[in-house]
Amino acid sequence: MIIILKPGIARKEETAVLKEIKALGYKPHVMRGVARTVIGAIGDERTHKTLESLTSFPQVERVMPVQKRYKLVSREAQKDATVIPVRGNLIGGRKFQVMAGPCSVEDEKQLMTTAHAVRKAGATILRGGAFKPRTSPYEFQGLGVKGLKLLAKARRETGLAIITELLSEQQVQLVAEYADIIQIGARNAQNFQLLIAAARTGKPILLKRGLSMRIEEWLLAGEYVLSNNNPNLMFCERGIRTFETYTRNTVDLAAIPIIKTESHCPVIIDPSQGAGRADLVACLCRGAAAMGADGLLIEVHPNPAEAWSDGAQQLTLEGFARLMEDLKPFIAAAGRD
Ligand code: PEP
Ligand code: MN
Repeated sequence: MIIILKPGIARKEETAVLKEIKALGYKPHVMRGVARTVIGAIGDERTHKTLESLTSFPQVERVMPVQKRYKLVSREAQKDATVIPVRGNLIGGRKFQVMAGPCSVEDEKQLMTTAHAVRKAGATILRGGAFKPRTSPYEFQGLGVKGLKLLAKARRETGLAIITELLSEQQVQLVAEYADIIQIGARNAQNFQLLIAAARTGKPILLKRGLSMRIEEWLLAGEYVLSNNNPNLMFCERGIRTFETYTRNTVDLAAIPIIKTESHCPVIIDPSQGAGRADLVACLCRGAAAMGADGLLIEVHPNPAEAWSDGAQQLTLEGFARLMEDLKPFIAAAGRD
């Protein structure tokens, strides 16, 4: 920590600050400038008591942390990229992974048709919500267990792995029984008890970015997964809330290189929730590949116009097949398979 004292502070007041720094377990290093004094407090900020209490001293102007607040998700903790095995697919390795499927599981025909089509087009993981976090309580809330059973059936028929959202701690065991990857949605991204419970299932976790979450907060939310003995965490950027109205959210593609620099965990882009518009999905996918994402999470529906949720942003089966074909040179140019 760096502690900056106000100008013209008497030695006696400086000594009081030094005493407090020592009492909190840090070693103070005093730097006396012309105008003011700066104190470096040496010690591990994550394990020692916080020095923020010093801001209540009238002679202290500012207290600034030097260390990052996250540990296990950081590149410092692990130099090599985390590669997550999911039913024979590696997420975070050379292969660019595409997860695709409907926003919500609606019925058997809708899911099976989509599953076969996305597999044929090259997706390796099937997405589909059985428990849906809907803004309005009057909107379709998902098929629940029935949806999970249909996902399991689609996995049996196609061999695709399954990603599905966990909404509540009450359903942790249930969802973990069916899912190959547990999705923690944007609205639950800082539901720490849910993150802990999900982490403890041992299943790979895809952590969406919250609607108004800063990258630091997102990394710290991820820290809850790793610090609960689950190394298989991936971050998913799905757009944040801004003042813009032409898109549903604002996809922060800069988050890709930032997370990649700060962390060893894979990064997935969800252009569907991100833009809220099917016509923007393809260019966001190209951008994501170019900027170093490890994969995509894309909404696909046999008939988006009649989808029970998120119709405007879902690709048709043909649209998805075309996208997968068009993406190939971009994925190759990014040095991925
Ligand atoms: C979804 O994937 O359908 C979804 C609800 O995602 P998010 O949590 O990003 O809104
Ligand atoms: Mn959706």
